[in-house]
Amino acid sequence: MQKDYLRLNNMYRLTLLGGEARAFLLESTQMVEQARRIHSLSKTATAALGRTLSVTSIMGAMLKGEKESVTCRIDGKGPGGLIMTVGKSDASVKGFVAHPFEDVPRRGEKLDVGAYVGKEGMLTVIKDLNMREPYVGQTPLVSGEIGEDFALYFTSSEQTPSLVSVGVLVAEKVLSAGALVIQMLPGASSAAIASVENSAGMFMDISKSLLKDGLDGTLEQLLSHLEPEVLDKLPVRYRCDCSKERMERALMLLGEKELTDLLNERHGAEMHCNFCNTKRTFSESELIRLIDKIKNGDNEQRTS
Ligand SMILES: [Zn+2]
Repeated sequence: MQKDYLRLNNMYRLTLLGGEARAFLLESTQMVEQARRIHSLSKTATAALGRTLSVTSIMGAMLKGEKESVTCRIDGKGPGGLIMTVGKSDASVKGFVAHPFEDVPRRGEKLDVGAYVGKEGMLTVIKDLNMREPYVGQTPLVSGEIGEDFALYFTSSEQTPSLVSVGVLVAEKVLSAGALVIQMLPGASSAAIASVENSAGMFMDISKSLLKDGLDGTLEQLLSHLEPEVLDKLPVRYRCDCSKERMERALMLLGEKELTDLLNERHGAEMHCNFCNTKRTFSESELIRLIDKIKNGDNEQRTS
């Protein structure tokens, strides 16, 4: 069974300034609320994972091919531990954080995402573009606040000057979440770069803009002076694509001896999916069937 969460948000793909820049404007409130519920996230964990999921959704929408995916790992050595997210080219996402219940004190009014994530580490982006080797890019974290960290990644690792604004407003549940990424395209004039840079201040509170004006209102309020042209509007959601069949394949990779040990010592196996927090159990007879499959040479990894 595919974990498909039906409540959708939307993302606009746009060009700005007659094609000198492109932009992605996302509302991700329901997506982040799903993540909060699945993982029982603390408030700061909701903001940290929610921001990462939002940017990952946009990076998924940047992919060209249908089966391509992007994986982001943020390991800032803070109390939250590793954050890992995966985005698909349909802009659906899944993710988890190592210590979802941890929280840190607020900094003034704001959730201190930087303190929760830490900044003594790296942001790693792995793109599976259906080629033999995945593309891997890595940049040091700037602040652990996520937006700045991705901005440095785009600018330095992908050589695309980018403005990233991302925010999550959370009370008992997620009130508003979203992101805006603007990227200058090759050959952009200095006037175009200046108009985007001069607007950066307006984009600071993206989650508040979305709460107040909604997605369409935010597009109007924040971007109308940059001559936006809508390319398309795509639905986005939190989705985990794990299945018992995939887990079977993962189990089979352990090999005949390991599986026989599991069978003899534990009389079954349990697999946990970090992304949707679901456990699946494998009975004795199922393990026997998998061991038989391996013996019959049916342990080739197939692509689904
Ligand atoms: Zn799953």
